[in-house]
Amino acid sequence: MTNIETRPVPSTITSEEIQTGQAMCPYCGVGCLINIKTRHNQVIELRGTPDSPVNKGLLCPKGALLGPVLDLPGRLLHPQSRAHRHENFTTLTWAETITQISTHLRAILEKYGPDAVAIYGSGQLDTESWYLANKLFKGYLGSNHVDSNSRLCMASAVVAYNTTLGSDGPPTCYEDIDYSDCFLIAGSNMADAHPVTFQFVKARRSANPATKIIVLDPRLTNTAKQADIHVPLQPGSDIAFFNALGRIFLDRGAADGDFIAQHTANFEAYANHLRSLDLDELAQICGVPLALIQRVAEVIMRANGWLSFYCMGLGQSTVGTAKHQALIDLHLMLGQIGKKGAGPFSLTGQPNAMGGRELGGLAHLLPGYRQIENDAQRYEVENYWGVPTGSIHPQRGLTAIEIFQALESGRIKAIWIAATNPLVSLPNLAQAKRALAHAELVIVQDCFETETSQVADFVLPTAQWIEKECTMTNSERRVTRNMKLAEPPAAAKPDWWIFSQVAQAMGYAGFDFTDNRQIWDEYRQLTAGRPCDQAGMTNERLLEGPLQWPCPTADHPGTPRRYENHRFATPDGLARFIACDHHAPKETASPAFPLVLTTGRLASQWHTMTRTGKIPKLANQAPLPYIEIHPADAQKYAISSGDEVIVGSIRGEIRVQSKISERVQPGVVFMPFHWGDLFAPGQATNNLTLDLFDPVSKEPEYKACAVSVRRAI
Ligand code: SF4
Repeated sequence: MTNIETRPVPSTITSEEIQTGQAMCPYCGVGCLINIKTRHNQVIELRGTPDSPVNKGLLCPKGALLGPVLDLPGRLLHPQSRAHRHENFTTLTWAETITQISTHLRAILEKYGPDAVAIYGSGQLDTESWYLANKLFKGYLGSNHVDSNSRLCMASAVVAYNTTLGSDGPPTCYEDIDYSDCFLIAGSNMADAHPVTFQFVKARRSANPATKIIVLDPRLTNTAKQADIHVPLQPGSDIAFFNALGRIFLDRGAADGDFIAQHTANFEAYANHLRSLDLDELAQICGVPLALIQRVAEVIMRANGWLSFYCMGLGQSTVGTAKHQALIDLHLMLGQIGKKGAGPFSLTGQPNAMGGRELGGLAHLLPGYRQIENDAQRYEVENYWGVPTGSIHPQRGLTAIEIFQALESGRIKAIWIAATNPLVSLPNLAQAKRALAHAELVIVQDCFETETSQVADFVLPTAQWIEKECTMTNSERRVTRNMKLAEPPAAAKPDWWIFSQVAQAMGYAGFDFTDNRQIWDEYRQLTAGRPCDQAGMTNERLLEGPLQWPCPTADHPGTPRRYENHRFATPDGLARFIACDHHAPKETASPAFPLVLTTGRLASQWHTMTRTGKIPKLANQAPLPYIEIHPADAQKYAISSGDEVIVGSIRGEIRVQSKISERVQPGVVFMPFHWGDLFAPGQATNNLTLDLFDPVSKEPEYKACAVSVRRAI
């Protein structure tokens, strides 16, 4: 352990007055709006906003228990640094910190060039902060090694939206739930991970009993338990399932010929591909009876409005992009898109994962969904930022896993990590640890001490949640301005302020902002004319309430649903069918590692537990990491419920408690991923997972790795 100074004491009391305002919940991408009252920098009242269309007053237990987060232990209070990693940290002033960081960065740039610096951010960073970091690295430092933990969960969804519909960003909105009579939930334990939205799905079925909920999941999750049809398909067989549905739609004449002819391209090639497939073989790959697939197809074909929700169960795969494309193909075939109650709807896991994509916070993007490798789009941004032509490198940068590989190989020397905890959340943690140990400079910027801050050279304390005013976009393209209702403790600062100070210390113009509203004004105007147009979202309007993009002008009401005119965001306005082939997960069971591990989330925890792990009512629901194992496998390996078991993959071993459960299939085991070394030393699930990734989206394959289990002696 290091001696990072954290927060055992309440924040400085600066206000006697009650502050009242609204902010989004800082956890999942549902983006529930909350009415909050604070006094003395403490939350004294907190309720879901009754008239918010996102949550209609509801909050899940994580949101309802947000009150204590301002005063949890482990809060970072002052900037700190150390000359060597084995030494303790020393507290610095901000002036010292900014000078030292800018000096270090400049020295590394001069010695190795811009290819040696990278930033790894997060879907938890607000839009203004991540916009500035992106501007600093891509526009001024000349490095496109700017990536985010959104790469780990949403990158495949991004690519698939782009390749099929011409633009990232879901076509759908939460209001569509009220018009749908068929919900397909694929690769998402929505009941636990996006619980408020799932409540509305269930409410729709209660109000309209003909409505069906279909869940595709290898595991009998809490979502699957509440489904009308659960398809317990084999891990990684989603494309085979979607292709089987497509073939049935085709054979039954369900394709919407007019929609396909007028609004899509490549249908014949896609249809020919489906015709070349054998339904019995597809069902065999899925590990479910063909009759079950036919039943699902019939329910979908009968639906007036078919809405698909999906999440990391599709994306976290070496063929994650194709999984998304194969599902979107089906919506296009039936014309179930661009109308009320229908369409593909990706669920985001973090509060501003969508905003981070919009502002170009990934290694291949620039603000406004512009592509780095598009010369005209790159010049537009250079011109807008006032930097010389050629300042932005013309090639895309390295992505999350690649950045950590480049740190280990020595190509990248300096890494700035903001609002994320890669030493719990990245796959193959042994590699991530080696990578950071090898780096010359590790800067970690966060509001709480984390496993990652413990290995840093500089630790920068940040304001969290309602300690700053900021802007975020939720899963349905709804942009919300969070109000500041408490002072950050001690020396903690908003992320945007830290980036702007370092940029100015390095001598760069264009960073002399004094508040987030100035940054927002610069950013929103850069989105003008782009698919994610937020130019009409002035500060004044956002202070009155959230708006959904596109919202191009100050009098535009915002856009709940995209593509209602069936003109897509491709150059010719036509959506694209993309024929996709099933490929098994890269790592399959073997004699040495005979079980397939799939990972996921718990309703009571969020990400790496930095906040939810310290709230007893949440933490007590699952106090220890565990593995779910089917009774047949438990018997085979002589494991009883509650035994300590050693779970091993080719990358490492951990010890966790066993839970014998028929929620998993024989041959498949499940582990939640939340615990890291701070909460369960040495037992992080990601010690086991593999860091192979989809070659297009670069999203890693968390959902299937080969493991062994044995009882600890
Ligand atoms: S965690 Fe998600 S569903 Fe729960 S209150 Fe927060 S935003 Fe809403």
